[in-house]
Amino acid sequence: MKKLLLGNEALAQGAIDTGISGVYAYPGTPSTEITEYIQNSKIAQELNIHSKWSVNEKTAMEAALGMSYAGKRVLTVMKHVGLNVAADVFMNMAVSGINGGLVVVVADDPSMHSSQNEQDSRNYGKFAMIPIFEPTNQQEAYDITTYAFYLSEQLALPIMIRMVTRLSHSRAAINIGKRNTQNTIKLSKNPHQFQLIPMHARNRYQHLVGIQSDIRENSENSYFNKFIEGPNTSMGIIAAGIAFNYLMENFENDSCPYPILKISQYPLPKRQVKKLFDKCKKILVLEDGAPFIEELIADYFDENKKVIGRLTGHLNRVGELNPDNIAEALGFERTFANKIPKIVTPRPPELCVGCAHRDLFDAINQLKTENTKQQVFGDIGCYALGSLPPYESINTLIDMGASITMAKGASDAGIHPSIAIIGDSTFTHSGMTGLLDAVIENTPITVIISDNSAVAMTGAQDSAASGRLINICKGIGVDKDHLKVITPLHKKLDENIDVIRNEINYKGVSIVISQRPCVQLSKEKKDQLKKLKQVAIN
Ligand code: SF4
Repeated sequence: MKKLLLGNEALAQGAIDTGISGVYAYPGTPSTEITEYIQNSKIAQELNIHSKWSVNEKTAMEAALGMSYAGKRVLTVMKHVGLNVAADVFMNMAVSGINGGLVVVVADDPSMHSSQNEQDSRNYGKFAMIPIFEPTNQQEAYDITTYAFYLSEQLALPIMIRMVTRLSHSRAAINIGKRNTQNTIKLSKNPHQFQLIPMHARNRYQHLVGIQSDIRENSENSYFNKFIEGPNTSMGIIAAGIAFNYLMENFENDSCPYPILKISQYPLPKRQVKKLFDKCKKILVLEDGAPFIEELIADYFDENKKVIGRLTGHLNRVGELNPDNIAEALGFERTFANKIPKIVTPRPPELCVGCAHRDLFDAINQLKTENTKQQVFGDIGCYALGSLPPYESINTLIDMGASITMAKGASDAGIHPSIAIIGDSTFTHSGMTGLLDAVIENTPITVIISDNSAVAMTGAQDSAASGRLINICKGIGVDKDHLKVITPLHKKLDENIDVIRNEINYKGVSIVISQRPCVQLSKEKKDQLKKLKQVAIN
């Protein structure tokens, strides 16, 4: 059977067909559609595959490890910066190993289309010493996923699949294979496997180091890594993941004259790299993201003058690869992308018309005229657009949850007013613990939780904060006299300014929940939220 699927959907279908019992994830572009596909899949529902969003990437990965502990197959999904949040469990579960097959999908965002950086997750996979896969196209996203679960169980290790934005978000017809049954509950035979106290962790770590040769050998013989002969040995090409696709787009009927080593599985197959190295006068390395392979090869052979790529300036050091910049590296003309005609006006991103954040920024900007020293610490979400004109209300944007903790640090340094703006979902993702730090010291900061009742930026997924914010803040220890709720509407501007002004003047932790649903939410969703709000206030 064939299906027309996004790269993300192909991967999700592969996971369903391999017999997963759950997916655990936090939404983040470009990874979100993987979980949404499973959530909307009728088969997944019939099979009772768990697919509810987690509060953050760390809780997602830990829950996935729990399901694997029970012997079942499980997928955990995040964007590249989400892996930073989950890095603790990620590194440790490489040491403990897994029981039921566990696949970690990390979607990188070269060129930073909707991210703060373009870090390359392959570095994390190498750091954890686990196998990494990098699909070349949508079919491989499907095939690799099904294989990765088997390899995970064979090696008893988590496996990483690295996706990139263009592959995640482009569509192709996919051959779908047979569906497997789910695993039944079956615990590990080793009672100490998941007890990483030093006496057991040392053994587990020794084991991880000990099986590295097996992992390398598996990659040397991988079906997904291919050595393709070519008559012109003046150059050999190593093309990883989607870069292989871009390369082939430069040649009719795949008639590349140079020998190619296609890489879709890591660790890098050293013998195959050596074969290419010995055969060719120079080596062009094509990889989306960091110069990960290029640097490794320099280490392997200590002859890095022969290797060209991103480090040598033959390709752009930052940003995405595409068929055009690869054409240039091959000495061809750039012919694929049309130049943007002058008639096209640049359109910087902006908040939707009617968005509640607009009214909040109006209030904050008016207060700035009263408090010229006011500093506003922002966070990840639609409201990050408040750093751009016409608002320019926000001074910082670093990572999930950094608004509250940065505001605290700045306040400790003597900055006043020190205001944090954080979304409801980001607050439950990683703002709550920072708030506890501030509450413990009663640090003079004002935290504005801009509650639009959704993870709006990634497509309005459910927010774990819905109906819970007030009780969470009270539970953390915020003084109820300094826990206010406002409705960000133009007609309430003066009233809202008064509330925020009073809280700014309080010399301790104060919270203002600025509450109005994202205008993109459906009517049903808004009605549902009204009920939840009642529950919270009562
Ligand atoms: S998606 Fe929702 S929260 Fe985001 S800008 Fe639009 S209305 Fe505002």
